[in-house]
Amino acid sequence: MKSLIKYVLIVFFSISCNDKNTLEVNLYSQRHYAVDQKQYENFEKLTGIKVNVVKANADELIERLKNEGDMSPADLFITVDAGKLFRAKDLDLLQKINSEVIEKNVGDVFKDKDGYWTPITYRARIIVYSNERVKKEELSTYEDLGDEKWKNRILVRSSSNAYNQALMSSIVANKGVEYAKKWSYDLVKNFARDPKGSDRDQVKAIAAGQGDLAIVNSYYIGLLLSSKNEEELNAGNSVSVFFPNQGEDQSGSHINISAIGLAKHSPNKSNAIKLMEYLTSEEAQKVYVNTSYEYPVNSKVEPSDIVKKWGEFRPDSLDLNLLGKYRNEAILVFDKTGWK
Ligand code: FE
Repeated sequence: MKSLIKYVLIVFFSISCNDKNTLEVNLYSQRHYAVDQKQYENFEKLTGIKVNVVKANADELIERLKNEGDMSPADLFITVDAGKLFRAKDLDLLQKINSEVIEKNVGDVFKDKDGYWTPITYRARIIVYSNERVKKEELSTYEDLGDEKWKNRILVRSSSNAYNQALMSSIVANKGVEYAKKWSYDLVKNFARDPKGSDRDQVKAIAAGQGDLAIVNSYYIGLLLSSKNEEELNAGNSVSVFFPNQGEDQSGSHINISAIGLAKHSPNKSNAIKLMEYLTSEEAQKVYVNTSYEYPVNSKVEPSDIVKKWGEFRPDSLDLNLLGKYRNEAILVFDKTGWK
């Protein structure tokens, strides 16, 4: 009899453990930065909750969530593009997040008004220019990059990249498809070479004299400037940062977020919320800004010293979900205007 009671208790305990008392959380992540592992290790030390990470590109992870359905082990979906979170929500793969701690940690500016994802960092897609061949006064807006004066001087990666797709989505949202087409057409005529390589490669190409301007994510400049590799350091030092569209009647610089959505069928939901609360906390935000040079979403934390030197800027205040809503139009613009 005693052993039967013991057996029943064990079964009962393991069933009740199955949901909320497990000590792990499963993350599907598109992020590709060394800082992340550090964050998860710190979280595990603090809470005892182990973070299991599956890394792939955002579309692959969305496909996986879709196929797994309610059997999915995923608790959280992390991307570097609000557009992909919009898509995941649109496909009914996410659930609303309820946490006062997150509400308190994250400012209103970047959050999802529907509450399906929370940002953890943001980044600006900026213009960098050659210190030798360009003067700051010559620069103004993204739109101006279509001007003839930039012929054969602009470097940017391919249009298959989500960062460029999000930028083009913002142009479509702010100015319409026809304007975006004209701009893209003019910009492509100014390319110094066919798009290739990463954001970092565009900066290296400026250092090598292959072009004078590049469109890149801000944190890559922080990574280059703090690199131990001489070529990277030289590349970082050969350029300056410019925040476009800062005029009063202009949109502000295009930004995107890295953000987390709570998976619809999250099996370890309370752990998932704890991790989101941790990643938006002052402690973890400091680790992001000083390791990956992204901007913090927690207003109590300041950007790194390297990033602060570039000065403050006004971000585009567009609802970030529009970066997903206009994604198909943006891709069509690329196809029609020859941005490879
Ligand atoms: Fe990146």
